[in-house]
Amino acid sequence: MDRQFFKTSLCLLVLLLMVAGGCQKDNTEDPGNANSTTAKKLHVVATISMITDIVKNIGQDRIDVTGIVGEGIDPHLYKPTAGDVERLKDADIIFYNGLHLEAKIIGAVFDKMPAETKPVAVTAGTLRSQLRTTSEFQGGYDPHVWHDVSLWMMAAERIRDTLAQADPNNAEYYHSNAKNYLAVLKTLHGDLQNLAAQIPAQRRVLVTTHDAFGYFGRAYGFEVRGLQGLNTETEVGVADVRELAAFIIENRIPAMFVETSTPSQGIKAVQAAVRAKGFEVEIGGGLFADAMGAPGTPEGTYIGLMRHNVDTIVKALRSELAYRRQ
Ligand SMILES: [Zn+2]
Repeated sequence: MDRQFFKTSLCLLVLLLMVAGGCQKDNTEDPGNANSTTAKKLHVVATISMITDIVKNIGQDRIDVTGIVGEGIDPHLYKPTAGDVERLKDADIIFYNGLHLEAKIIGAVFDKMPAETKPVAVTAGTLRSQLRTTSEFQGGYDPHVWHDVSLWMMAAERIRDTLAQADPNNAEYYHSNAKNYLAVLKTLHGDLQNLAAQIPAQRRVLVTTHDAFGYFGRAYGFEVRGLQGLNTETEVGVADVRELAAFIIENRIPAMFVETSTPSQGIKAVQAAVRAKGFEVEIGGGLFADAMGAPGTPEGTYIGLMRHNVDTIVKALRSELAYRRQ
């Protein structure tokens, strides 16, 4: 009995010493733990909101991310503010679209960046072989890559790999988040293809303000006509309006679309020109071409903007109203 008591007491004593030792050890390690949880987060700056959104989804709370070009703003024309220049200079990583989309930001800031901050173009890497070539845009490529979800998935992979390389301690976390996000994007791509297929093939003609939807057309089966060409810097001329109006009449296009980041006067002029010839074309709604919607709204995310665009297009072009004489 005594022997049993002795054994039990000894065990308790050992246990107490272990707990005490453990506690003591924990105490001495506390400052270190505190440091690791408050370790400096990667500071990431992105140009367009569609890139900012991917970075947020992959980096989540382990990075600080700032977007430069806000809702409804045209990246072709955006000139960085003094605050943007400071933010870009302080960044650990800068992500941009490239292909001359952010021409004025690149010209004003990128050449003056510290050597260690090398901006990362999300359209470089594997995506390069999938680009649409064009003689209309400086550099020879169409920059509006995000309108094909399968291509934007490649941009997401490039962002994932860049974050993981810059911050190896969180690499597994970035890979895990990217895996989940890419799965959602893959589903989205299939959904958009199915929705587009609801429009009869001969009605799948997308007329918009500027040629932002070339990748969209290629991915989801639309012929695309823009009033303004690939770059919004060009002026809309009377001949452009007349030519597009003639195309609409000839092809019996029931609806065309305005864009949230570019002025709508040009499209309204085309509508008036069509009407002057005795025909009618609807304005089917607003599409998010080169910028997302307001934060907190469904269109304030990349996924939401893509769904909005396809829903708007399908609703207008699927309509049994189709093309009609006035
Ligand atoms: Zn554009």
